[in-house]
Amino acid sequence: MSVEPPVPDSWLEDASGYRGHADRLFVPTKEEVAEVLRIATGEACPVTISGAGTGVTGGRCADGGAILSTDRFRRLDIVENVAFVGAGVPLSDLHAAAGRRRLLYPPDPTEWTASVGGSIATNASGSRSFLYGSTRRWIRALTVALMDGSIRRFRRGERIDFPVAPLPAPRARKHTAGYYLREPFDWVDLFCGSEGTLGVVLEAELGLLAAPESLLTGVVFFPSAPEALEAVELWRAIPQLRMLEYFDGHSLDLLRARYADIPAGAGAALLVEQILDGLEGDPVEEWLDRLVAADGLEDSWFGDAPSDRERFRVFRHTLPELVNERVRQLGHGKLGTDFAVPVEQNRAMMDFYEENLRREFGESYCIFGHIGDAHVHVNLLPGDRRQAERAPSLLIEFAREAVRLGGTVSAEHGLGKKKAHLLPLEYSPEQIAAMCAVKRQLDPQWLLGRHTLLPVPC
Ligand SMILES: Cc1cc2nc3c(=O)[nH]c(=O)nc-3n(C[C@H](O)[C@H](O)[C@H](O)COP(=O)(O)OP(=O)(O)OC[C@H]3O[C@@H](n4cnc5c(N)ncnc54)[C@H](O)[C@@H]3O)c2cc1C
Repeated sequence: MSVEPPVPDSWLEDASGYRGHADRLFVPTKEEVAEVLRIATGEACPVTISGAGTGVTGGRCADGGAILSTDRFRRLDIVENVAFVGAGVPLSDLHAAAGRRRLLYPPDPTEWTASVGGSIATNASGSRSFLYGSTRRWIRALTVALMDGSIRRFRRGERIDFPVAPLPAPRARKHTAGYYLREPFDWVDLFCGSEGTLGVVLEAELGLLAAPESLLTGVVFFPSAPEALEAVELWRAIPQLRMLEYFDGHSLDLLRARYADIPAGAGAALLVEQILDGLEGDPVEEWLDRLVAADGLEDSWFGDAPSDRERFRVFRHTLPELVNERVRQLGHGKLGTDFAVPVEQNRAMMDFYEENLRREFGESYCIFGHIGDAHVHVNLLPGDRRQAERAPSLLIEFAREAVRLGGTVSAEHGLGKKKAHLLPLEYSPEQIAAMCAVKRQLDPQWLLGRHTLLPVPC
């Protein structure tokens, strides 16, 4: 189960480009995990849990000690509308297995190579979360290995069995910054979003839905951002809408390198997807009316075939891939946001971003993402040294504004190591101390996921 040192480079990074270091790599079976944790506890050796490494905050990158890979936890059984899934199973396998039974695993972090365990540890969400919520909502039970070497199975509804202090929730629809400590103090909620700092998720029971029979998907292009943002506010109320995703003009410019058919006059776009099952009237006609009313471009794209959906899904997913490629070329590391605000503050937050970015970054940025939930990703792509030096402090100003508007410093990626400094912008020292008390209870030597989320020692 232990791989001969040195640890290969591919285990030391994640998609953020953050680089860690480690002395040992364990790739245990589910049965061997408790033994690894007991050895680590005995030797006071830090352990960092590694899923697929698609995280964008450095969470799986070890700062010394050992890496514990979840690659061998590969159970995948579906019984009626429940999936029993090992933490190392890629989301693509889960989606495919559910699809074969005409079922749907609703959360959709667009990166399908991510592992089930990583998506639970970050409480991942994504484009379909507008309707279905984040990963948290779909977990029915978790099997977790704890640092004392015990393996425990927690069913949803089981209350944490030691004293914990409640923490406030931001008013944003999505949030995953810090531990989830709220009534009814459910164990499952605590592990979901804890970013590998409290225990190793071995297996999960996940709820599935009947897959919709009929869907209409579209990429609606607009001449510029204001028309698209206006449409967002109106279109949130559309029945059975499950995606409302935003692309600003700079995002479309990046995509033009691969998609020559993006209309020349497009300065912004929305990706929409509506479930048609049971709807009355003519949904296509209704979309055409909406398009005209919102000043959308005539050559927008619509389709209702699975191949259309897949084409639009790939179009959406190509964007963060292109952004990450550009980030690697520029060499400044990823400078992106994951902030969400209450939906009624969406316009205020977008105006704040645009004003500052236009003034200080000219064309060197893009904004895209889950605008239906008032959660977009701003990516800074510094064009010169001045911008590169300014970027970190500008991101902190954005974080402060998101919190001031009632939002969160992380909606779906978690804070990992790269963004752990943002936690005190959202929580008071007393509230962070409450999280530390939970950490100490489950990991007294502070060995698991060191430097992720919380400082050491706390
Ligand atoms: C192009 C691109 C697009 C993306 N789009 C989205 C998106 O739309 N929505 C979204 O939410 N995310 C998105 N992400 C981020 C990423 O895919 C998610 O954060 C994903 O959930 C991470 O899973 P992973 O298996 O790669 O985890 P890793 O990167 O390996 O680890 C992430 C964190 O989880 C912990 N962890 C991993 N497995 C376990 C386990 N079994 N038990 C306990 N802790 C564990 C790690 O220690 C680490 O802290 C995107 C990433 C990329 C590269």
